Amino acid sequence: MSVKPTSSQQGKTAVVTGGAGFVPSHLIERLLHDGLKVIALDNFVTGHPRNLAHLEGNENFRFIEHDVSLPFDVEGPVDYVFHMASPASPIDYVKIPIETLKAGSYASHNALDLALAKGATYLVASTSEVYGDPEIHPQPETYWGNVNSIGVRSCYDEAKRYAEAATMAYHRAHGLDTKIVRIFNTYGPRMRLDDGRVVPAFIGQALRGEPMTLFGDGSQTRSFCYVSDLVEGIWRLARSETHEPVNCGNPHEMTIRQFAEEIARHFGLELNVVEQPLPPDDPKVRKPDITRAKAVLDWQPVVPFDEGIAKTIEYFRGFVGSTSH
Ligand code: NAD
Ligand code: UDP
Repeated sequence: MSVKPTSSQQGKTAVVTGGAGFVPSHLIERLLHDGLKVIALDNFVTGHPRNLAHLEGNENFRFIEHDVSLPFDVEGPVDYVFHMASPASPIDYVKIPIETLKAGSYASHNALDLALAKGATYLVASTSEVYGDPEIHPQPETYWGNVNSIGVRSCYDEAKRYAEAATMAYHRAHGLDTKIVRIFNTYGPRMRLDDGRVVPAFIGQALRGEPMTLFGDGSQTRSFCYVSDLVEGIWRLARSETHEPVNCGNPHEMTIRQFAEEIARHFGLELNVVEQPLPPDDPKVRKPDITRAKAVLDWQPVVPFDEGIAKTIEYFRGFVGSTSH
């Protein structure tokens, strides 16, 4: 295990694509907290300016509105490029499949070229979706996956698999210092209430007194990681010496029906669900094997599910009834 200490990061510069999104906005806060300067780029296709509004006036932070699938450059030295830009929710990427493919392909090349030109470390946000509907459970990084290359989710899954391939090609061909984080379902404040992912969907429905929309019979499983845990893992990975993909997620697995029960419990409600058809290619199980993250990053999630969900519910309370979300 070798991770550079945060004290040696003071004054360095990080570029974060997709900075106005849920996970990237938390990453930016962490980088600023550790003394870095941050330049964020976003075109607000799924993110929102409110996620960065509190950073206005911070002299170490700069925002550029830009579609990173189109070429871009930034002035001055850059130490890290975090390529985080991509639609991430199934309803978002099914609505904008071509933008999603470009975020994994064209935008990856643009971000990789920036890192190469600046001699920066490059980190890409990949996903557990590279494992598709997995036949191995839990999923270790050595598993090559089971992805339908022409299904409705393929615009996302294959774009991320391409993003990983491009990252390894730049590492091998140019010696670029690259990192690949495979993110498993992560939740927390700043998700969009209407982004369709199960955490905001069920919490929003509970807050509005509506039944929760359970897709299929709810026997499919997911493992939910609180965002501060993920950000810690990403930042450790960026400072590590590993070039192999690393899973970051919480191995605490539950069925989606159990997840609905947990949300009902938090609200002191009886379980109230309406079953809807399971979307095509919806993975039946998902749970990260985090052996590698423990070994190379000395990382594992620490935020208990109840604590993370309570904070997330608190955040969403402010939006129910509002028209701006
Ligand atoms: P998000 O939608 O909140 O954030 C993504 C951001 O990227 C948004 O602000 C969006 O506007 C921006 N973006 C997309 N395409 C862009 C483009 N062409 N140019 C500029 N900006 C663009 O989603 P998130 O959950 O925060 O996900 C962040 C990253 O992490 C994504 O790459 C996603 O694939 C990955 N990831 C997230 C999860 C999760 O559970 N949250 C799981 C796996 C992978
Ligand atoms: N899901 C659900 N109801 C919803 C939204 C999602 O039952 O309103 C299910 C979905 O079918 C999947 C799981 O919850 O099995 C997680 O979905 P999400 O969109 O959050 O992320 P995924 O892990 O599928 O990318």
